[in-house]
Amino acid sequence: MTRQATSPIWHPFTQHALQPEMLPIVRGEGAYLYAADGRRIIDAIASWWVVTHGHCHPAIVQAIQAQAERLDQLIFAGHTHEPAEQVAAGLLELTPPGLAHVFFSDSGATSVEVALKMALGYFKNIGEPRTRIVVMQHSYHGDTIGAMSVGARGVFNAAYEPLLFDVSVVPFPAEGQEQATLDALAEICRRDRPAAFIVEPLVLGAGGMLIYPAAVLREMHRICQAFGVLFIADEVMTGWGRTGTLFACEQADVAPDIACYAKGLTGGALPLAVTLCNHAIFEAHCSIDRTRTFFHSSSYTANPIACAAASANLALWRRPEVRAQIAGVADAQERCLARFRYDERFSDLRRCGTITALDLHADEPGYLADVGPKLQAFFRTGNVLLRPLGHTIYVMPPYCVTSDDLDVIYAAIDEAVDHVL
Ligand code: PMP
Repeated sequence: MTRQATSPIWHPFTQHALQPEMLPIVRGEGAYLYAADGRRIIDAIASWWVVTHGHCHPAIVQAIQAQAERLDQLIFAGHTHEPAEQVAAGLLELTPPGLAHVFFSDSGATSVEVALKMALGYFKNIGEPRTRIVVMQHSYHGDTIGAMSVGARGVFNAAYEPLLFDVSVVPFPAEGQEQATLDALAEICRRDRPAAFIVEPLVLGAGGMLIYPAAVLREMHRICQAFGVLFIADEVMTGWGRTGTLFACEQADVAPDIACYAKGLTGGALPLAVTLCNHAIFEAHCSIDRTRTFFHSSSYTANPIACAAASANLALWRRPEVRAQIAGVADAQERCLARFRYDERFSDLRRCGTITALDLHADEPGYLADVGPKLQAFFRTGNVLLRPLGHTIYVMPPYCVTSDDLDVIYAAIDEAVDHVL
């Protein structure tokens, strides 16, 4: 059954027949959103995991304003500009060693598409016939066709299955099963001679905030290196402090061949993404033979205003207090999660850096579990923005969140679960 729409807008990941009314928001500041009716809402999921230092951070807002008056947009083929140069240089200072070149795009999914094209372009240009991609079970890398192809198959993409390309899948390294993942990866690398392995380091986000140890990440990287398989780290969600370090790969001492960053790259203010790669990949495309060009672009590649926001974000990351703030959020999250430690309504309480997650015992687990939307609606009445992934509730706040805010968020979880069960 459909209901009368009140707006022509078709919203993302929204079932309009069940949720016809959208909540109008007029302002954001720090960890809060302000609704048109005056309510103040705590943004406990950082507006889809993008807002890091807080909404409308003054340094980022100021950088956007100044750039908007100077240069708004520029064709990035054959041209460059100072904000993009600053972002590229700044990224190379902060990212794992070995990453040497920066390709701009505008979303997490496009940064993944670029990564896959870089990997295949590399092998084509060096004359080695490798085209297969290895992925991890339960992964999510975005909603474009290539990104969906390397992500988990399921309700999100069943209709588009005929368009998706075939990949090799290693099982998720659940506790006690880590060796099976490593063995499967080694076997696939030996048997299929893949081009690349793409993985979300330490935490699988949309797959249910599934956490695995740094030692497994390190070992998966070692196996890829041994078989000449390019290692692609999708840090779209895990980057920018979420896992406790600036990038998740740092915790495993892993230097990926290709890395994808988006979401928090601008502090969450504007859409911008980058795909970084090692020198060999760039070098394989660099030739007087024009057929070896890296054929990828989009109109807004490295938009100057978005780059100015990213540059301001990188400047914030050079301040030591940002890392101290993250450690504080991680500690506060651990303390808050502890209230549910012996609570039988929940299982699998987990935390990685500033991210916490817990599963609700549900009759029908998975993304379509009915409890998800019911909880979400209840949280809204309590002025907390949480959006469970099916029966998994998670908290991923901006880093300016206070301990008091977190207490409110966890009290809302407690109450909402009682209400819904
Ligand atoms: N990769 C990962 C790991 C993600 O979590 C996401 C988004 N949730 C994406 C890629 C896609 O990013 P975007 O929504 O910006 O396209």
